[in-house]
Amino acid sequence: MSKIIFDLDDTLYVSDELRSNREKVILDFLGDKVGEYFELKKENSTMKSLEILGISNLEFFELMGNVTINLNQDLKLISLLEKLKDDYKLVVLSNSSKFCIKETLVQLGIFNLIDSYYSAQDFGKIKPCEECFFMVDKGDICVGNNFKKDLEIPKQKGAITIFVGGFHKDADKSIKNIYELKNILKGGYDKNEY
Ligand SMILES: [Mg+2]
Repeated sequence: MSKIIFDLDDTLYVSDELRSNREKVILDFLGDKVGEYFELKKENSTMKSLEILGISNLEFFELMGNVTINLNQDLKLISLLEKLKDDYKLVVLSNSSKFCIKETLVQLGIFNLIDSYYSAQDFGKIKPCEECFFMVDKGDICVGNNFKKDLEIPKQKGAITIFVGGFHKDADKSIKNIYELKNILKGGYDKNEY
């Protein structure tokens, strides 16, 4: 059975409130390094930027563990994943901590629908590091909101890539939000159609 490998944040859910609460905790922690951080963020992901500033992934996970996650159950997402489950194994792969991933999936109401989930904590590496994508096989489907972080390596490995949240020219398909996945995958996905 093929797999669908989902990124989590800004892919399976979008929460401006959670994103800004997390950012606030980071900025408070950084203190006078904030200016440098914003410069680094122009070219790098959050975790990469923090790494350059000497903040380890572990410290980052601890910081994020202090931010309350307050998401609603998503009935539309639940019904989408229930349908997809007939044809695919469902996997979540995120740079968040194991704790945050589980908490998020539970609150969205989809924890029991996910076959397995992987955190950057499992690898000691963060996406887009190739090791993180060990579970991606040719023909699998990868879904994410950041092409470089979520989809570039899967594409090289022969996976079908779906960009969420707008348009990306290098992805096999782009959708505005996760719910549109239903239309794409209805009746099976044929790469040649796109
Ligand atoms: Mg994301």
